Amino acid sequence: MKVIKSLFQTGTIRQQLHTGVILVTIVLSAMILLPTILIEYYQSMKKQAEDTAFFLNGQHYFFESWLNERSSDIHLLANMDFVKAYNYDKAQSFFIEFRDRSDFADIIFVNKEGFVQFDTVKRATNEPLNIDVNDREYFQIAKQQVQGNITDVLISKVTNQPILAFASPITDDSGNFNGVVFGTVNLQKIDELMQESRVSYDGNSYIINQNGILLSEFLSNSTSQGLNVANMFLTKYTVDEHIFDIATNSEKKPLSLYKDSKGKWVLGASQVINRNNWILISEIPVNNVLLPLLHTFFISIICILLSGFITVRLMLMYARKIEEPIQHMIDGVRIIEQGNYDYQITEEKINPFTKEFRELTDAFNHMTSQVKGNIELLEDLSVTCQLTKLYNRRYLMINGEQIFQECQESGSSFSCIAIDIDYFKKINDTYGHLVGDEVLKHLASLLMISVRERDIVTRYGGEEFIILCPNSRLSETEQLADRLLLTIHQNRYEKNDIVIPFTISLGVAEYKGNKDTPTLSQVIDQADKALYIAKENGRNQVYIEGKTLLR
Ligand code: GH3
Ligand code: MG
Ligand code: MG
Repeated sequence: MKVIKSLFQTGTIRQQLHTGVILVTIVLSAMILLPTILIEYYQSMKKQAEDTAFFLNGQHYFFESWLNERSSDIHLLANMDFVKAYNYDKAQSFFIEFRDRSDFADIIFVNKEGFVQFDTVKRATNEPLNIDVNDREYFQIAKQQVQGNITDVLISKVTNQPILAFASPITDDSGNFNGVVFGTVNLQKIDELMQESRVSYDGNSYIINQNGILLSEFLSNSTSQGLNVANMFLTKYTVDEHIFDIATNSEKKPLSLYKDSKGKWVLGASQVINRNNWILISEIPVNNVLLPLLHTFFISIICILLSGFITVRLMLMYARKIEEPIQHMIDGVRIIEQGNYDYQITEEKINPFTKEFRELTDAFNHMTSQVKGNIELLEDLSVTCQLTKLYNRRYLMINGEQIFQECQESGSSFSCIAIDIDYFKKINDTYGHLVGDEVLKHLASLLMISVRERDIVTRYGGEEFIILCPNSRLSETEQLADRLLLTIHQNRYEKNDIVIPFTISLGVAEYKGNKDTPTLSQVIDQADKALYIAKENGRNQVYIEGKTLLR
């Protein structure tokens, strides 16, 4: 959770979108998939319970009907006149004929003493066979005149095979017990019925008795079909204890989940048949229920993964559309930070992106061009004297120093002129400051038009000016100074009837190599000193540093 939180706080747009989409996909999928799978699971279990119950009822009905019919058959035989009359010959031939057309393996006539009088296999009549069935429960039940008794599986005293017996009492004319007719059915027949009862059912079916002994078994997908059920019974083959427990308690639960005899998970249901003697069990593999669910689950997962993948791709595409122009902006801001105030983001970089970014870029570019203009203006203002429009002292110190150094490095000559208006205070005092300012402006324009192109005129402060003369030897600068003196003399200030003749004093100095004047300030200082001497000498003159010149 912390990792996700920190990613949302610090990650890039791309990372955040990536994580966001994956999280949303997982949450949405879980919200859609879980209820769907749960609903499908319950519906499928419900349907399975219904199907199993339906099938089990059908099978139950099938077996019970068959058992009742066979029971009725024996009841009918026991009540035949020739049976009641102990007409053995007729009874025997009738029984044989009847047996051959029925599911019975044998039909037996027992006298009232409990000895087999005859049967359709061994066929004794006058002398009873030495087979005593007094110990048989069915004989005792029949003796009490109970009709339609059906036994659990027992071992035949005639054939020694496991059989099922249907017994009915014979009564004499007075209604007294007079013997028993019973028919036997081989266990194999029950197995055949089991095969017949299984119409379109994909699962295991088997019958066990109350002792858990397997009487008939049908396993789907098994190669051991058609086992000798008689042998199985003789060896007392019992079902697993847990299956027996579930089957005997099945009324509590319509469908139970357990492992079948082969160890596979199944859903099982059971019902008692044959007068509670037997339990009929039906099982269906859990896979039959779960496989469709798994299919739904996997198809859903694949769909979710696909849609998640497409969404992530789309989101990343959009992220790129946001991220790239932002990156261009960041690059632009960094370039501006380095001092390239006029940096512009080109149209090709932004055009493939959204309208908003094009607008933002236009605004960005507009802003940078304005910043550039404003900075130029500020730079200009910071080095210009607003009154005279000449460069100011600040310019002199920064750019002048640079020009001086270039001359120094290239070995070129360099000189400068310091100029000061003579008795300027008097002009101020006489005409006022405003006129004084006008005189300053007048002088500035005269200086500007008089100097050579390479010369730089600056207002040093007050009414003092410095002219830098790069690549100029002292003699050339001296000539310039003379020319300036003359120009000022010839161009007095005239405006609105005010005529002010004024003069200037000039000091000229040159760079004499690193020994005496290693810096610009020192050269200016020298010129200033020369100016001072010019003043001393009477003003309105040029003084060349190191010379004595009176004019
Ligand atoms: P000197 O010949 O010795 O240079 O005499 P000066 O009167 O020119 O010199 P001073 O230093 O006594 O006076 C200079 C005057 O210049 C004083 C100051 O009021 C005036 N001044 C300085 N800057 C300006 C300005 O920008 N405008 C105006 N009107 N006057 C200025
Ligand atoms: Mg002055
Ligand atoms: Mg002065």
